[in-house]
Amino acid sequence: MAITHVRPDDRLHLQSIASLFGASSKIVTVTGTGISTKAGIPDFRSKNGFYSLGHRRLFYSSVLSDPERRPLFYNGITKMRQVVKCASLTRTHRFILSLRDAGKLVRDYTQNIDCLEEKVGLSTDLRKGPGSRSRFCRKYRSRHIRGQHQVDHEPRLQENNRGVECVLLHGFLRRLRCSNCFSTCCWNKDGREAKTLAGQEPPCPSCAEISEARTAAGKRATAIGTLRPDIVLYDEQDPWADSISAIARHDLLQRPDVLLIIGTSLATHGVKHLVKDFAKIIHKRAGKVVFVNLTEPARNWDGVIDYWVEWDCDV
Ligand SMILES: [Zn+2]
Repeated sequence: MAITHVRPDDRLHLQSIASLFGASSKIVTVTGTGISTKAGIPDFRSKNGFYSLGHRRLFYSSVLSDPERRPLFYNGITKMRQVVKCASLTRTHRFILSLRDAGKLVRDYTQNIDCLEEKVGLSTDLRKGPGSRSRFCRKYRSRHIRGQHQVDHEPRLQENNRGVECVLLHGFLRRLRCSNCFSTCCWNKDGREAKTLAGQEPPCPSCAEISEARTAAGKRATAIGTLRPDIVLYDEQDPWADSISAIARHDLLQRPDVLLIIGTSLATHGVKHLVKDFAKIIHKRAGKVVFVNLTEPARNWDGVIDYWVEWDCDV
């Protein structure tokens, strides 16, 4: 089926979409850089995005082994992190939180590395696993049946039973990861931020500790790895891929009825598959896939996306 194009003045279709959200109890969201532009973080593919500034080739893994581009990558990514640290939350981030608080959010999947989802209050720790949403919903509903509509929407379950609420598909800018031992560490200590801003790779403290202990014991020193941002570059394998796949499989079994895609051109391979898998399950239940973006989806999304809302997502 062809995609229904919804413009800001199309009140009829906008009301239908709003009613979908109202009636749904299982919404999956997929977001991209478009939801963070109002927070002051440049997106990637739009006319004034990061790529238009000549940064496109900086996000491929080959950058790490290229002595010419590597300093540009470290400098650019450190500047991006500094912007992210001061970024404010947008209405879209708060909207996703409101879906969580209303017990409607199955999961938020984001391609963003700014981690603003964590700032708004969504858990992003994959080690928490998928959680146990069905128990959460039963308790939520039963409280409404008793007529307690004004009570706070916090579930009575322990926090860790919610599992990870936002899956970061491409990692995040908060930490650095060792290219040798894969341990992670914070970016703020030991002058690491000044080093990366200057285009340099800081040494890994875990590798250094092991090597120093060996030499103190009279043994041969071992290699000390260098630190890189804990993000997933375009042609890299995500170290968390298995955990993310397990959570996506779990969410497909939850039989969501709405998929809301916001601020992404759906260009990366992994997210294309994710969206198609969810759309298949959602359409089996007569649910809908809503795409909110200023850029038109490609024709090959016919039959996957039901509505294209051509509008600023924060509005
Ligand atoms: Zn290391």
